[in-house]
Amino acid sequence: MKGDWGLPYLAGVPFRHRASRARLGALRDRRVGWLVRHAAKHIPFYKELLQQHNVNPRSIGGFQDLERLPLVTRRMLREAGERAWATDVPHSRRTLASTSGSTDKPLTLAFSFEDRLRKHAISLHCMSLYGWRPWHRGMALGSQALPRDHRLQRLGFSRWHWVDPTRPVSEWLEDYDRVRPQALHAYPSALREFCFQARERGPLQWLPRVLSVGGELCPEELAPLTHDVFGVAPLSMYGAVEGGRLAFECREHAGLHVRLDGVHVEILAGGQSVEAGQPGSVYITSLINTVMPIIRYELGDLATWVPGECRCGLWWPRIVLHQGRSSDVVSLSGSRHVPITNLATIVGKSRAIRQFQFVRRADNHLVLRYEPQGDTAESLEQIHHQLRDALPGITVELEMTGQLPRTRSGKVSRLIDESESNLRGAAKKEAS
Ligand SMILES: [Zn+2]
Repeated sequence: MKGDWGLPYLAGVPFRHRASRARLGALRDRRVGWLVRHAAKHIPFYKELLQQHNVNPRSIGGFQDLERLPLVTRRMLREAGERAWATDVPHSRRTLASTSGSTDKPLTLAFSFEDRLRKHAISLHCMSLYGWRPWHRGMALGSQALPRDHRLQRLGFSRWHWVDPTRPVSEWLEDYDRVRPQALHAYPSALREFCFQARERGPLQWLPRVLSVGGELCPEELAPLTHDVFGVAPLSMYGAVEGGRLAFECREHAGLHVRLDGVHVEILAGGQSVEAGQPGSVYITSLINTVMPIIRYELGDLATWVPGECRCGLWWPRIVLHQGRSSDVVSLSGSRHVPITNLATIVGKSRAIRQFQFVRRADNHLVLRYEPQGDTAESLEQIHHQLRDALPGITVELEMTGQLPRTRSGKVSRLIDESESNLRGAAKKEAS
């Protein structure tokens, strides 16, 4: 059974988007059945969890039975530590990777070489659907479209130039002019800065065939900006360390197609599946991880299913990600929970602001900290006005700053909480 997901699986990846529902459905059902039996046999964490919930692993025949399995959180896996790793894989054959920890404490995951090959095959295929070819030159601005794997690079998949997004933006453009990449992949926030800088400098001498973004939620205001600079809207990819490339946007720009050959996605609210159009939390069951199976695992992103078929012809279901991570919601007085992306959309459209961050000072006091761009006092006044309109009863302040702190991967945190209650809570956690 495992052999299905070895070489025959890898060889089939380039063709699987053409597979029929019945054929792919059967492949997926067999895989999830195998995965649950494997987890119950070799992974102490899942063995105990299934026992606690009285689930006989042999009774899971496919995805129709999945709902009988318990939901798993990042915290549960973190606390399980190595008990969440397969005991039948020797230490020397495990590779470790960590979640970024930008929203939560990081989780360490273990993979086998085969797990990573399956993950890589799917990433490569997503890029190839966009028109990228292995001999193309690529440039990655922070976010990685393709795996940085030396074994793959030796096979010739190495014409990617990686740019450290913590370097000055002018240097990114110098690199771009020199590399002339056929594919440019970036964090949305980095691409935004790239576009501002490029627009200041004048039209680009070279345009890539593929412009894609990943690693962060792609805000809608980015498309007009990239249209100005590159003539196209960026294609969004959605991935996670826990499950590899999970979904990708097609050229119809109407939601992201779920990679059915690598993952099963559930969107749940209160533990129940939501209807199309209703928001819920994303849970994934990875079909590619075997050393550390990911089964009904809460990713922490919010999404909705897109109803109907996509005009591109691919039947794989589509999701729309929204409101960022469920933790990217600012709680304000009057029990209001405002998704930070709603506010970011207002600010992001402005040409007066290069980068920004919201600071919650109290439940009725929000500060927009920003790096200015050009001479545009009028536009700032407009933003201030719009934010006050969006947040009645809340004091909204604008605060100009120098360079905002970047995370190691070059991202700017969109929301930080400097309220007294939060700082007290953090201090308590430190002390305990
Ligand atoms: Zn499509």
